[in-house]
Amino acid sequence: MKWFEERRGKVSYAMENRDGPSSYDCSSSIYYALVASGAEDNGYAVSTETEHDWLLTNGYKLVFEGDWSDAGDAKDRQRGDIFIWGTKGSSAGSAGHTGIFKDANTIIHCSFGHNGIEEDNYPSYKKGVSDLGKVYVYRPTGKGAKDKCGAKRRSNGKMSGGHLFDEKYQVIQPYGYTPWSMSRPDMYPNGKHTGIDFNTVNHADFMSRDIPVYAVTDGEVTESAYHAFNGNYLTHTMPDGTLQYYGHLRDLPLKKVGDKVKKGEVIGYLGDTGSAKGTPPHVHFEHKPENTWHQANSDDDPSFLFKKDGTLADGEIIDPQKETNMASDKDLKNKEESEDK
Ligand SMILES: [Zn+2]
Repeated sequence: MKWFEERRGKVSYAMENRDGPSSYDCSSSIYYALVASGAEDNGYAVSTETEHDWLLTNGYKLVFEGDWSDAGDAKDRQRGDIFIWGTKGSSAGSAGHTGIFKDANTIIHCSFGHNGIEEDNYPSYKKGVSDLGKVYVYRPTGKGAKDKCGAKRRSNGKMSGGHLFDEKYQVIQPYGYTPWSMSRPDMYPNGKHTGIDFNTVNHADFMSRDIPVYAVTDGEVTESAYHAFNGNYLTHTMPDGTLQYYGHLRDLPLKKVGDKVKKGEVIGYLGDTGSAKGTPPHVHFEHKPENTWHQANSDDDPSFLFKKDGTLADGEIIDPQKETNMASDKDLKNKEESEDK
């Protein structure tokens, strides 16, 4: 609500440039407002189609579903309720709309008509809109996002990750001041290893077989190239600016700048390019809290993406099959079902 009020009359409506900060559309404004108040980062802003599932994942429940002519959606509304107009499956583009209730009758929403964020009386605003089919209303239950992974949300709002490899992998140089990084001021001017070097436990034949490297979180590729030091490398960011970097890939990354990546998608293969030539093949994995890849000392410890608590130590082995702090989606579903009983 605060997010909307701060932007009322100040931003414009655009379906093309919907990721802010100066323009949004109806569903992206709901998305960024809720993410700002702790909802799960989806990797990209939801549409009126994907908003349904995303609200359910984030602790909302469906409290009304009816036809356009049914006035039930205007009754007993509460502050914080979210309406979605448009029949699921065909509400893409301008065939759908969504907004949030400020009180029983007042909505605040980002619309084409207002070219931005404004308040309206819900029943009278709806009267001026052509029949969009179905109407849905979701209400926050206060449970918040389901914690799919123990490390999902730290107090700083960072996301947890998936696995870098689908087989056992290990830390061959941890994050921070390591004997190697402190002995190489040419490579590490501050003496600090700015990321974690990982390779697979079984990597002896990495050139003759493909050892896939997976995206650790969802995001959008910001750099994908070869560099003498980084080797073949890829960086991808999140809507909140968080950035990940994967260095020394065998070949040019499989994703190009602007491509969307999903957690668990293959981005390249284990390699030893760039400054890693002559060392064991590895991925130099780095995390930046902001989109500051080219800024020195803006990195932070990426251990939280792989481990529930603490810092990954030198030699520590991660087994993607046995990892206990990362619950599978199936486990969670079962857990949710048993909690709901
Ligand atoms: Zn490294």
